[in-house]
Amino acid sequence: MIDFTFTEEQDMFRKAAREFAETKVAPKVPEMEETGKVSDEVVKAMAEAEMMALTIPEKYGGLGLGYIARLIAVEEVSKVSVGAGMMLQVFALGIEPIIKFGSEEQKKKYLPGLAKGERLASIAVTETTGGSDPAGIRSTYKKDGDDYIISGRKCFITNSHIADTITTLAKDEEDPKAFSTFIMEKGMEGFKATHEENKVGMRGCNTGELAYENCRVPKENLVGVEGKGMRVALAAIGDVGRGGMVGCALGLQVACLEAAVKFANERILYGKPISRLQTIQNKLADMKIDLEAGLLLGYRAAAMQDKGERCSNEFAVAKYFTTEAAQRAAKIAADIHGGYGCMEEYAVTRYLRDSFVLGPSAGTSDIMKVIIGRWALS
Ligand SMILES: Cc1cc2nc3c(=O)[nH]c(=O)nc-3n(C[C@H](O)[C@H](O)[C@H](O)COP(=O)(O)OP(=O)(O)OC[C@H]3O[C@@H](n4cnc5c(N)ncnc54)[C@H](O)[C@@H]3O)c2cc1C
Repeated sequence: MIDFTFTEEQDMFRKAAREFAETKVAPKVPEMEETGKVSDEVVKAMAEAEMMALTIPEKYGGLGLGYIARLIAVEEVSKVSVGAGMMLQVFALGIEPIIKFGSEEQKKKYLPGLAKGERLASIAVTETTGGSDPAGIRSTYKKDGDDYIISGRKCFITNSHIADTITTLAKDEEDPKAFSTFIMEKGMEGFKATHEENKVGMRGCNTGELAYENCRVPKENLVGVEGKGMRVALAAIGDVGRGGMVGCALGLQVACLEAAVKFANERILYGKPISRLQTIQNKLADMKIDLEAGLLLGYRAAAMQDKGERCSNEFAVAKYFTTEAAQRAAKIAADIHGGYGCMEEYAVTRYLRDSFVLGPSAGTSDIMKVIIGRWALS
């Protein structure tokens, strides 16, 4: 049986997430756009609203609501601010390796504080030599007694400057085919957040570089099995990272459609609203078709994830479709605004900039097609 309806709890959760986004995030959007910085108030409000606890099991202080709830939350926050949605989405991505591959001690040590939002999380894979090709990273680890020594630099890391717990991929100094994932903690000697990017869009989240200089990490911080860290990182990115980007993209699609409909109903030409023009209705129909398809793809994958089924291929399709559709939606929404679509006072200009930044995060559209092509051939 296929059931396409949300449960009553999920509907109530969406209502609460929407109210949260409209009352706590929306007022901070102008400031985040202006400064290009995360709003501390938004982070605090997210923690108070237990947004960070959604995917963390109850046993470790979380809400254990799962991935449909998480998709709803990221979608609703992103409808108001894709930057804030991105911050929230990468938070869940950063803790996923601990939830899925961490030891009992790691779960007990880190998850309760993360669930309360007292600690913030991220994941650091990308380097200048390894984005689409993560095996190209140059950060290394080597064993030293009971510790590991980590050296290297990461770039384009979301939450780089606000995260306290960063799951980090590095390669064995002596075996370039072996990768391991470590929990790096703010304040460790030799670990610092360095350059902060000034992005064209998603300005409400922080993206930057990290440096590890002979950073000593106890063996207790190794996540999963030594040498099998690539699987840990890619599993988290494939399901939770891409799932989160789907939430960001869906939220943006909804925002674009609502802005386009509002403008089309208010703009009078030839003595009537332009929404009565069939050409405009066709454009709105294109946006609506993309949105309906994206919702089905995204929530199908999240439903599979909640059932514990493999869903990374489904998320690759959903990520490809929704992020491309969000770019189309932002372009159409701006077009419908005519000359006003070029003016900063109109949110559609922000939507255009945000839509552009959705592409590379958690893997480019080219990489999604590589994955989907392999799936088609399997
Ligand atoms: C806003 C933002 C937030 C991010 N957050 C994080 C984060 O929190 N943690 C993290 O680790 N990383 C993060 N990233 C990095 C992101 O994952 C990478 O940008 C992405 O994987 C692409 O890598 P790259 O930028 O090095 O591009 P490259 O890999 O250099 O790609 C360049 C071009 O080549 C194409 N290409 C590459 N390989 C293939 C192929 N096999 N077939 C066809 N075309 C190909 C790409 O599609 C692209 O067009 C973030 C990026 C952005 C923009």
